[in-house]
Amino acid sequence: MENASHKGSLEEISEQVDDITFCYTALNKVSRSFAVVIRNLPEELRDPVCIFYLVLRGLDSVEDDATYPVEEKIPLLKNFYTKNYDTNWSIRGVGDSDDYRALLARYPKVSHAFQQLDEPYRNIINDICRRMGEGMAEFVEKPIKTMADYDKYCHYVAGLVGIGLSDLFAVSGLENESIAKQQDRSNSMGLFLQKTNIVRDYHEDLYLDRVFWPEDAWKKYANELSAFEKDPTSERSLNCLNGLVCDALRHVPDCLAYQEQLRDTQVFRFCAVPQVMAMATLSKLYDNPKVFTGNVKIRKGLAARLMTEVKDMDALRNYFNDFATDLLERLRIDDPHYKEMCKHIYKIKNSCSSKYSLN
Ligand code: CA
Repeated sequence: MENASHKGSLEEISEQVDDITFCYTALNKVSRSFAVVIRNLPEELRDPVCIFYLVLRGLDSVEDDATYPVEEKIPLLKNFYTKNYDTNWSIRGVGDSDDYRALLARYPKVSHAFQQLDEPYRNIINDICRRMGEGMAEFVEKPIKTMADYDKYCHYVAGLVGIGLSDLFAVSGLENESIAKQQDRSNSMGLFLQKTNIVRDYHEDLYLDRVFWPEDAWKKYANELSAFEKDPTSERSLNCLNGLVCDALRHVPDCLAYQEQLRDTQVFRFCAVPQVMAMATLSKLYDNPKVFTGNVKIRKGLAARLMTEVKDMDALRNYFNDFATDLLERLRIDDPHYKEMCKHIYKIKNSCSSKYSLN
């Protein structure tokens, strides 16, 4: 993995390198930020987490390709997990970018690497892949209508990642076995990240013709989801946005309780950094009309600081408390979600101050 800097397209590189080198090169290509955090994991977990990520990225590339016919997509999503044991399987021309298409076209490299993992790791990865594929298939032709649908979809595409990671941590022996039993908290870890991305990506998804904002959350405010883009500063638009920010905040106490259970420093940071980045992002999304017209991002300096400073539970609590306080000070009193926002924020602040939790 150290030498993942081969030049050329992923397709070209695949001819020259062994399976595991291909996996790390692919990881670098499809997600630079994730490649960095994986590099900082304990060695025992690096290959399993890298391969877990690529397997799910392959599945996701099938889900995201809007040009791939539904009658082929649904069975492939459902059967994708079987491909990890079929080293002859690959598919050409599916995926939204050259890298995603190369990942699927060269999938035997991933399935070979997968088969070299220890059995407990393989079982976890394949089980999550099967359940996620099943869930994605369910939503291919079904819109996300209710808040329950929203939670369900996010469970399939992100909550299951949290659950799978907890299982990998437990099996590695680096974390206590009890972490694998905390499925609700693991699920919340995924939901918090996924919902933050969904709220943030309103504008990008609008242009890709994808809808992840639950209908029941926005139909109260507009007839078309695109109406917010035309009227970004209106109270309607902002109130709708704030409702979804409020819903995401609901998961934070669970996430903090989860982090509290981790004992390996590197595993702690691997989990904590994305969480604190999401909290920073969410705080920036609240009442922000720019969500409707572009991509809202946290400043690079802040992101770098969070990455280096969030090393332990104290630092994590401090940052969550700061972002919660900042949010509290900016709450708009005439926002219909004001009361509920306060409730969630006080709960978060409370979790941040409880030095010794009782769980
Ligand atoms: Ca997707």
